[in-house]
Formats: sequence, C-alpha cells, structure tokens
Amino acid sequence: MWRFLTTLVMGLRLICPACRRGRMARTFYTIHQYCPACGAVLDRDHGEVTGGMAINMVLTSILGLVAGIYGLFFTGFGFAAVTTGTAVLAALFGLVFHRHACGAWVGFLHGTGAISERRRRPSSFWSFGVLLR
Ligand SMILES: [Zn+2]
Repeated sequence: MWRFLTTLVMGLRLICPACRRGRMARTFYTIHQYCPACGAVLDRDHGEVTGGMAINMVLTSILGLVAGIYGLFFTGFGFAAVTTGTAVLAALFGLVFHRHACGAWVGFLHGTGAISERRRRPSSFWSFGVLLR
C-alpha cells in the first residue's frame, strides 16, 4: 500500500515512479513516452491519456462544485458572477492540472503493476530488434 501511494505521489509530482529521478514532463501539456533517466515506459501508447483525463475531470468537477456552493452561499456575489467565476476557475484548473493528472495516472499504473518497470525503450540504432523478440 505504501509503495502504491508513493508511486501515485511521484506521478502527481511528475517524477518517474520507476527510478524516482527522471522528469516526466515533456512540455507544459504533455509527458514523455519513456523516462529520460531510466527509459521506463511512462506512456504506453503515445497520447493515451484516458486515465489522466478521468482524474482531471473528476477533480475539476469537485473543485467547480465546491467553488460554486461556496460562492453562492458564503459570498455576496450574484448567481451570474459565481457561475462565470466557477467556469473560468474550472477551465484554468483543468488546463494547468492536466499533465499532473496524466502523471498521477502513470503513477497509478506503475503502482498497480500495469506498466512493468522492466520494459525499456529500445536502443535507437537497433530499435528494429523489438520486432525480433
Ligand atoms: Zn525513470
């Protein structure tokens, strides 16, 4: 259980859960397919971020719900201002949190063993060797 939580937090922090050294973030919005430090698989099928999108959607919805309830009942703002502010907040949070959610999904997959730490990136020159396995 502790190992699972550690890999989840490592993924959330965009640190490779396999080696705990490599950075997962490739750009502001994407993660590397393989860890740049150890070569562990981070993204099984490049661009497959379904789990990350689900995590992001759930957390963004919870944030929007809490912000909307708080705005309506505990502030003096009107309904239109609260819904507009909540929509903007949720959209910005979803954009900023996207790669962290993808990292958390990678950490989840490593924690559950769905991505094996033994699978490594093929060497660049002999990459056709993957076909010979
Ligand atoms: Zn690594």
